Amino acid sequence: MPRPIQAHINLSALENNLRVARRAAPSARIMAVIKADGYGHGLTRVAEALSAADGFALLDIQDAVHLREAGFNQVILLLEGVFNAEDMALIAQYDLACVIHSAWQLALLDACPGKGTLDVWLKVNSGMNRLGFAPQQAAHALEQLRRHRAVRGITLMTHFANADEARGIAGPLALFDDFAAPHRIARSLANSAALLRYPETHGDWVRPGLMLYGASPFAEVSAQQLGLQPAMTLSSRIIAVQELRAGDEVGYGALFRAEHAMRIGIVACGYADGYPRHAPNGTPALVDGQATQTLGRVSMDMLYVDLSRLPQAGVGSAVTLWGEGLPIEEVARAAGTVSYELMCALTARVPVVV
Ligand SMILES: *Cc1c(COP(=O)(O)O)cnc(C)c1O
Repeated sequence: MPRPIQAHINLSALENNLRVARRAAPSARIMAVIKADGYGHGLTRVAEALSAADGFALLDIQDAVHLREAGFNQVILLLEGVFNAEDMALIAQYDLACVIHSAWQLALLDACPGKGTLDVWLKVNSGMNRLGFAPQQAAHALEQLRRHRAVRGITLMTHFANADEARGIAGPLALFDDFAAPHRIARSLANSAALLRYPETHGDWVRPGLMLYGASPFAEVSAQQLGLQPAMTLSSRIIAVQELRAGDEVGYGALFRAEHAMRIGIVACGYADGYPRHAPNGTPALVDGQATQTLGRVSMDMLYVDLSRLPQAGVGSAVTLWGEGLPIEEVARAAGTVSYELMCALTARVPVVV
């Protein structure tokens, strides 16, 4: 038998989650965010499943070109925009849209061949202080874009730092609206959390990422409550069983010590597959569909699960690391990270099945 680990990608879950986004933001167009290889789910596979989206947003220009060549005729937006003059030529050739977040990118517009062919998304920094022009500078940048011979369409965009948190979006939204109000230009503000929680941010384009993959952006609301279905299930099998006596230790660094006799299962999944090494004792897992937990330190290719209350389980038992039956958010929380990071961390050696 091959090494039993696999990531199952559920295409109908992706389709379902896109419908959830549409229902929540019926007046906006949907820019499906598929950066980082579709949050680890596979770029082309995700784009196909989400082909009802109005646009795709990603970073890598080669990925964008690949999608165009594969026949996707939606808007394709480069979220970090253009990096050099050669990119600008490709952007024109493949009719890609690009974010303009800094003055140095404005200068690259001159490298765009053609007249009135380029769609730009002017990014405004509304308080996250990552990318974008401060509102005062954005007015000047907008003026330059309006006058530039290469520019066809302009969309005003911003990104929220705290849409998923109690802090919310009120301050940044007011800042952005102040800037955008005098202009009759398309707007895009909402990530998944804002899309689901703040209809006032919907504007012309929403930009959901995480929710399309079936995870909740909120700590206190589950994906299921939101009608979302997990798109990725990481599973493997138990390949060995150990019978521990009281006092026996497990794994590198003896992170776990048995207080009494117990059985543990060795699972073919480790950090080289993308499972977080920092997941502590007690991180949830399913064995044969039953809830249990990891113990000991995650190693490169294997991890340990507690079988004390699962007498039927043994070599060959199916293990769910996250996904269907075990929300990825719960694993992420236990491991002190977010579901985004777990999805993206899946490594190339894990076979994907659809
Ligand atoms: C990643 C990203 C999104 C999507 O965010 P989610 O929280 O995954 O919905 C939207 N907009 C921008 C600019 C992003 O970088």
